[in-house]
Amino acid sequence: MEEETQETREFYLPNKMGRIFILSHEEILGKTGMNAVLKIADLPGWIGQLPANNFEPGFSFTTCGKIEAALEKMYGPAAGRGLALRTGHAAFKYGLREFSSLLGITELSFRLLPLSMKIQNGLKALNTLYNQYSDQIVRLEKENDGFLWHIDRCPYCWGRDSDSPCCHHAVGIFQEAMHWISGGKYFHVEESSCKAAGEPSCTIHISSKPVE
Ligand SMILES: [Zn+2]
Repeated sequence: MEEETQETREFYLPNKMGRIFILSHEEILGKTGMNAVLKIADLPGWIGQLPANNFEPGFSFTTCGKIEAALEKMYGPAAGRGLALRTGHAAFKYGLREFSSLLGITELSFRLLPLSMKIQNGLKALNTLYNQYSDQIVRLEKENDGFLWHIDRCPYCWGRDSDSPCCHHAVGIFQEAMHWISGGKYFHVEESSCKAAGEPSCTIHISSKPVE
């Protein structure tokens, strides 16, 4: 029953998040690449368009999934993955500008925390943001060596079928988030299961130990 509802109803990101999604792709692909992706995605209406900078739920999960699928189709799985990761890095930077006051992660009190607390509080703040301001359903789970970020309703692979995890944009967001939170360190971030591959959630493992 639950599944039927998920397939028949449309879900949305707020325009502000959709705008960041489009801007981050434009930054990495360039205008020409972006337009080509939108054509392949059969979304010609978005060419040269940006969602409004507001919280109205206007950017559909279907649009997100189509763009990510077209990116992979146009550049191939390996290069497509690399580009999608980079769009995620860009999206975090845009997101930080737009949402920092809601997230509270640029405040002095946050910056003074030890790294482990910064990571935990930063991920919790992101978790709350996604659940509150979009139709995404996300859960954060603590693990021995880091965190599991479960996306139970995921825009990035919406409507897609894939042999392997394909929510690279989300992985990129967390790579950049961890890089920023730690003041320039790198962390292992990997998607271990994906709804597009028939699994119940998209799960991203985020190590809390920096790569030496
Ligand atoms: Zn996904």
